[in-house]
Amino acid sequence: MLGKIIIATGNKGKYDEFAKIIREASSGNFAEEIIFAPDISRMVVEETGKTYAENAMLKARAWAENSGQPCLADDSGLEVDALDGAPGLYSARVVAGNDANHSAWLLSQLEGVVNRKARFVVALCLCVPGEYTLITEGYCYGSISETARGDKGFGYDPVFVPEGYNLTFAELDSLIKNQISHRANAFTKLASLLK
Ligand code: IMP
Repeated sequence: MLGKIIIATGNKGKYDEFAKIIREASSGNFAEEIIFAPDISRMVVEETGKTYAENAMLKARAWAENSGQPCLADDSGLEVDALDGAPGLYSARVVAGNDANHSAWLLSQLEGVVNRKARFVVALCLCVPGEYTLITEGYCYGSISETARGDKGFGYDPVFVPEGYNLTFAELDSLIKNQISHRANAFTKLASLLK
């Protein structure tokens, strides 16, 4: 079991989700304490990589070097079939503003579009300083709704309907999201690599 682990993100929604996934998937056996990075430093790592994996590794390594503690970082995006995989790596930067602005932008891009298939992709990187760096990828397939629905979660959750459900991620219970999400998928792979 790791002692302390830093979740290298400034996004509290993402941190909360990671903390739940880690506790639920490992029955509390993965780490003793799960720390939100901004609680210990204001460091910001630029996401200059060309892939999700490169960006996740940049963040995990920088935080691990800076703190001397094990760090977990991710980089994720939403890939929409009808937009040739956009916004993808640039999902957080499609337009200025907040999560609601991003979802509104996406709905406007898909006005009148019938093929609404999409997937969330995430690369997860665990860096234990002086020991090892591990990377896994996770996916969650689904479609983009016609309107934004629900108030749970973060990011594009109000417009993403996972395969096999009629509700958006923002309407579904977080327990369900945390079992089927791209992040849960990548974490399960990471945990089995550690075994
Ligand atoms: P980053 O990984 O912090 O760069 O975020 C990529 C973008 O995808 C951000 O706009 C996030 O809000 C969005 N995103 C990543 N994962 C999720 C998710 O599980 N639900 C909703 N939006 C997400």
